[in-house]
Amino acid sequence: MSSVLSKSQWPSIASISTDVQNGKSKALDLVELAYKTLENSNEFNSVISTTKKRAIGIAKDIDSRVKKGQKIGKLAGVPFIAKDNFLTFGGETTAASNILKGFNAPYQATAIERLEAEGAICVAKANLDAFGHGASTENSDFYTTKNPHDQKRVPGGSSGGSAAAVILDIVPFALGTDTGGSIRLPASFCGAVGYKPTYGLVSRSGVIAMASSTDTIGPLTRNIADAALILDIISGKDELDGTTIEKDKLGYTNLPTHIKGKKIGIVAEFMGKGVDPGVRSRIEDTLKELKNAGAELVEVSIPSISLALACYYIICPAEVSSNLSRYDGQRYGHTSNMSGNIEDSYNWSRSEGFGSEAKRRILIGTYVLSSGYYDAYYKKAQTLRTKLIKEFNEIFNKVDFLAGPVSPVTAFKIGQNIKDPLQMWLVDILTVAPSLTGSPAVSVPAGYSDGMPVGIQLIAPTGKDRDLLALASVTEKVI
Ligand code: GLN
Repeated sequence: MSSVLSKSQWPSIASISTDVQNGKSKALDLVELAYKTLENSNEFNSVISTTKKRAIGIAKDIDSRVKKGQKIGKLAGVPFIAKDNFLTFGGETTAASNILKGFNAPYQATAIERLEAEGAICVAKANLDAFGHGASTENSDFYTTKNPHDQKRVPGGSSGGSAAAVILDIVPFALGTDTGGSIRLPASFCGAVGYKPTYGLVSRSGVIAMASSTDTIGPLTRNIADAALILDIISGKDELDGTTIEKDKLGYTNLPTHIKGKKIGIVAEFMGKGVDPGVRSRIEDTLKELKNAGAELVEVSIPSISLALACYYIICPAEVSSNLSRYDGQRYGHTSNMSGNIEDSYNWSRSEGFGSEAKRRILIGTYVLSSGYYDAYYKKAQTLRTKLIKEFNEIFNKVDFLAGPVSPVTAFKIGQNIKDPLQMWLVDILTVAPSLTGSPAVSVPAGYSDGMPVGIQLIAPTGKDRDLLALASVTEKVI
């Protein structure tokens, strides 16, 4: 069974690495501990595959380099799990879709390369909603991950396997992707820290694209210091992704420890009627503590937020339909056995390979981009997105941060929303706005409601990731 409520078996990431570097512990033992914990929590389905042979080889290599007195890096011997939409060596990369079953990546994602360069070891690939489309991992073509706190409930999505793996204590950190909430929501549902950086701060190279204009990459951890360290390592310019930006000159570690005089805007639209009373009181309690710690709380309103979900569910499928057009069964992934001409082969391969949510998004995406409807839907959504960005910029002239819940509810029951796609999309109501504006946002555990974790969402202006992490770190302390 899980060790959910017990203390973590992993010390801070920095001290794991120091111990390996000093020869106090062995990378091989850490990797074996990760696999043993994974085996003991198998019933939660957090993982799709392991990269065992390669991971053990790397661990042995690190241990022998330590013996020779060589310097390894800031993550010496630290095991981690990557969501299965990161291209990695040592096993398949499937994005939890049947169309990519059996696919072996020819290169690794930049984020993985940067972690490995510091001595981290990828031990497994986490489950997700196929291609990242979802909020519960129920859209995985393989199986649903279970919430570590209650096996009848979802872990959130789409990075549900990554969040569950961290809370099941398999590894000290996991990588996720967040296009409309997929790091923050599972973090909130499982009680982990989930950090979505400013758009462009972490390279998307080697990460299977969902909606390219909002796709971001970030860590899921048990605490802010660990998240900050991982962000520090994976962030910054990358020549393989033209949208990447420079990281903060001060980096993301050694964060300021006080928030005196900082203004936090409590977003009225985030605290509306639909928010569950248990969630609301956890958020209000946390905000009170932040006030006691010296922050100033201000009520703010961002009117276009109420339309952000509608806007997201036009722009996202439009980009999804385009990004998924590359899966044609000819170059990689599933190829149908059905005979016919090349067009038939495309059609059959895609029909057999894609799950129903991917197909739904391809249909909606091609519809909103089609010549007759482009102006009515896609163009309007883009206009609204621009308005939302303007409203965010204006509000950030008045306050330093925004706050609210990550989700109006705690983790729901498996099966509860799966038959009603619209209901499932509504789960994203509080997370999509920062995705559309490119703002950094984080979910920090803020206690429990009826035994299930609640996350507070903190949002900062684009590029202010360091300030946001500092606020998150203070928040973690006051809770
Ligand atoms: N739940 C949202 C969606 O299905 C967000 C997904 C994501 O961030 N990858 O689009």
